[in-house]
Amino acid sequence: QIPLKVPVTLPNGIKYEQPTGLFINNEFVASKQGKTFEVLNPSTEDVICDVYESREEDVDLAVDAASKAFNSEWSSQDPAIRGEYLLKLADLIEEHSEVLAGIEALDNGKALISARGDVALVAKYLRSCGGWADKIFGSLIETGDSHFNYARREPLGVCGQIIPWNFPLLMWSWKVGPALATGNTVVLKSAESTPLSALYASQLVKEAGFPAGVVNTLSGFGKITGNAIAAHPKIKKVAFTGSTATGKHIMKTAAESNLKKVTLELGGKSPNIVFEDADINKAVANIILGIYYNSGEVCCAGSRVYVQESIYDEVAKAFKAAAEAVKVGDPFENGVFQGPQTSQNQLNKILDYINIGTQEGATLISGGKRKGNKGYFVEPTIFGDVSEDMRIVKEEIFGPVVTMSKFKDVDEVIKLGNDTEYGLAAGIHTTNLNTAIKVAHSLKAGTVWINTYNDFHQMVPFGGFGQSGIGREMGKEALDNYTQVKAVRIAR
Ligand code: NAD
Repeated sequence: QIPLKVPVTLPNGIKYEQPTGLFINNEFVASKQGKTFEVLNPSTEDVICDVYESREEDVDLAVDAASKAFNSEWSSQDPAIRGEYLLKLADLIEEHSEVLAGIEALDNGKALISARGDVALVAKYLRSCGGWADKIFGSLIETGDSHFNYARREPLGVCGQIIPWNFPLLMWSWKVGPALATGNTVVLKSAESTPLSALYASQLVKEAGFPAGVVNTLSGFGKITGNAIAAHPKIKKVAFTGSTATGKHIMKTAAESNLKKVTLELGGKSPNIVFEDADINKAVANIILGIYYNSGEVCCAGSRVYVQESIYDEVAKAFKAAAEAVKVGDPFENGVFQGPQTSQNQLNKILDYINIGTQEGATLISGGKRKGNKGYFVEPTIFGDVSEDMRIVKEEIFGPVVTMSKFKDVDEVIKLGNDTEYGLAAGIHTTNLNTAIKVAHSLKAGTVWINTYNDFHQMVPFGGFGQSGIGREMGKEALDNYTQVKAVRIAR
C-alpha cells in the first residue's frame, strides 16, 4: 500500500500534495488489488511518485458510482445548477493554475509556457461548458397535421472516456466538460504515462461541490482499464483520444459489447502549406509552432510542409535557422520551447522514424539526433527531398520531425495535401483570400488554419475527417455528441 497523497516539490520550488488513489465517488481510494505503478519525469527519467493502478473491478465500482449519481439527481436537476458547478470548477482551475501547469510540465515534459497555455484553455473551456448547461435546446417541429411534435436532447448516461498523454489536463477537460454540462456522469481513464494532473483536478471537482459519483477518474493501462471501459455493458458512450489503431479497437469493442456510442479523436499527418505570396516570416513562425510546439506530440501537428517552388529555398533557409534556434531543454527553464518527449517508447519511435527517413533517401536538413543521454530529448528535425510514398511522409511520427517539399500551383498542392488517410487539420499561408478559401474548402480536414496554426478556441469545433476520427470536441458540436434526441409526437 502507498499513501493516498504524497508531497511533491516541482523543479520551480512549488510544493504540493499529489493524490495517488483512484477518484471514485468523490474519494481517493486504493485500487482493489492494491497494485501501483511508477510515474516518470521524462526530463530526468527519475520516478516522480507511484499511483494506484485500476483494474476491471475498480471500473465496475466507478461505473456503479456514476450510474447511481446519474439516476439520483444529476441528470434530472435544473441544468443551471450543473452549470454553476462547472463555473466553480473553472475558477478553481484558475486558482490552482501554477501548480497544474507545473504538474503538466513535470509529468508530460511540455515547456512550462505551453503548460500554462493549456491550463488557461482548460479554465476557459470548463467555463464555456458551464454557460452551455442551461442552453441545451430541443426543437419544435411543425408537421401541418393535427399533431404537436417536439424533439428534446437527453443525456446518454454513464460515459466512458479514455485520454492520451500529450495534453493530459486539456483532454480531461475536453472530455468531462461537455459530458457534465449535458447531464451525463463520467468514468475517465488517464494515460498511464501522465496520470497526475487528472488526479489533482479531480480533487478540485470535489471542492467545487459536484455530487459524489458524477466524475470518476482512474489511473491505469489501456489494455486492462481502457478495454474494460470500452467493453462495459453499463457504459452508454465511449469517447477516446489517441492513436487510430487503438481507436479502431475501441470502436470494435464498443460495438460488440452494447453498441455504445463512440466518438474518436485520432491521429493526423496534417499539411502546412506556404504560398509564394505569404508573409514568409509569419509563415515560418507558424511552421515552427505547427511542428515543435508540445515537442511535436500533437495530433494536428503540421508534419508535412509544402512550399511553393519560387520561395522554397528562401523558406527552407529561414525555417532551418528558426528550427536551430528552438530552445530544447528542461521544461521549467526560461525560454525553453521544446521539452522532452513524454516517454522512452515515444523517443524510440521518433528515432526509428528518423532512421527510416534517412534510409528512404530523404535529406536531413536539420537535427536528426537524440539530445543528451538523460531524458527523452530530440533535436528539432527537418527532412527535405522527400517523395509522397515515403513512410516519413505517410505515417504519424508524433514528434519534432517534419518533411518539406515543393509544389507548383493550387491544384497540385490540394492533391498533395489530400494524399493521406487522415484528415485532422491543415494550415494555409497566403495573403490572397481567394486562394485561402479555395484551398480551405478543398482540403479534407476537420480544421483549416489560415495564416495561423495550432490555434484553438473553446467555441470552435475540433475533430477529424477520414481516419482522424468521429465526432467533434469543443463548440456546440461537442455537446451534441453527449446527448441523444427524443422525438415526442402528440395527437390533439
Ligand atoms: P494509444 O492510442 O494506444 O493510447 C491512448 C490512450 O488509449 C491511453 O490512455 C491508453 O491507455 C489507451 N489505450 C491503449 N490501448 C487501449 C485499448 N486496447 N483499449 C482501451 N484503451 C486503450 O497511444 P500510445 O500507445 O500511447 O501512443 C502510440 C501512438 O499513438 C503515438 O506514437 C502517436 O502516434 C499516437 N497518439 C496519438 C494521439 C492523438 O492525440 N492523436 C495521442 C496519443 C498517441
